[in-house]
Amino acid sequence: MKKTLLLALCLINLTTVMAQKKNDKTVLVIHGGAGTILKEQMTPEKEKQYTKALEESLQAGYKVLKAGGESDQAVIAAIKVMEDSPLFNAGKGAVFTHEGKNELDASIMLGKNKMAGAVAGVSTIKNPIEAAFSVMKNSSHVMMIGKGAEEFAKVQKLTLVDPSYFRTEDRWNSLQRVLEKDQEQMQLDHDGGPATTFVPFNFVDEKFGTVGAVALDKNGFLTAGTSTGGMTNKKFGRVGDSPIIGAGNYANEQVGVSGTGWGEFFIKTVAAYDVAALMAYKNYTVQQAGDEVVKKIGELGGDGGLIILDKDGKAHFPFNTAGMYRGWITESGKVTVKIYQE
Ligand code: ASP
Repeated sequence: MKKTLLLALCLINLTTVMAQKKNDKTVLVIHGGAGTILKEQMTPEKEKQYTKALEESLQAGYKVLKAGGESDQAVIAAIKVMEDSPLFNAGKGAVFTHEGKNELDASIMLGKNKMAGAVAGVSTIKNPIEAAFSVMKNSSHVMMIGKGAEEFAKVQKLTLVDPSYFRTEDRWNSLQRVLEKDQEQMQLDHDGGPATTFVPFNFVDEKFGTVGAVALDKNGFLTAGTSTGGMTNKKFGRVGDSPIIGAGNYANEQVGVSGTGWGEFFIKTVAAYDVAALMAYKNYTVQQAGDEVVKKIGELGGDGGLIILDKDGKAHFPFNTAGMYRGWITESGKVTVKIYQE
């Protein structure tokens, strides 16, 4: 489908979830990635697997909140379920780099005090969201990368794994498909056309599946977290928006946001922070702010989606792709999971 048509469809169909019943506010929202997720390409079996994993993630986070736990712990619990599932592009099941490796990124931010932590380009940390949390909690830094971040995770006694732990056949096959296209691109470049020294990334249709969560605890505090394997065929140590505070993740006293999509565009639009800024400076609702930011991303040529939860338990899930794995749970425990536009 043409991108403009898709965008128009999405803007008509943007899913808004205000608190279901008057006092039953939303306390946890999650996503498992946005992209070309079409019902006609999904088997009932696969759909069931995704729905189940998203429900498990919501229940894990909800359990923490129900027991009186804080929003950061709820976000970690929810994200760990998805990192451990091979279905999502985070933790096990992460996409492959051009060199055939898995390099993971994650971040977390606490709205109440703006504490934040992130890791990027790690290959041996089983749950990168825990490493992001440790950077926030136990260091004076916000972001650590590569070998240094792994060394820190070891000191923090986080679970380390052999890099092969992250491998799945599905993601490996995705890389092979993209590499074939990449090869064609190189072919074209050398076919009498202008010489290029840089082969463009070929991300289209083999991307997304990042996970994220935003939780609201009994004290009214928000935490946002995001975790990803990045984008298939990424090269040269590319890092996307997910570990960048303000781009793929942001929380303050008023709202928490986690993004998924073509990271370069989320960085350029400072997407997650822009939602918060529109709400703070223009008094926008979650819906107005989310729609505006997804529109800006689309206008630049990017795609993806956001999950947004504010301090009153109002949530919004805008996206301009065919689908976005997403779900939410209310204070009373009512679970909703959605995949496609509706
Ligand atoms: N935003 C991620 C990145 O660019 C990819 C995704 O959301 O799937 O690394």
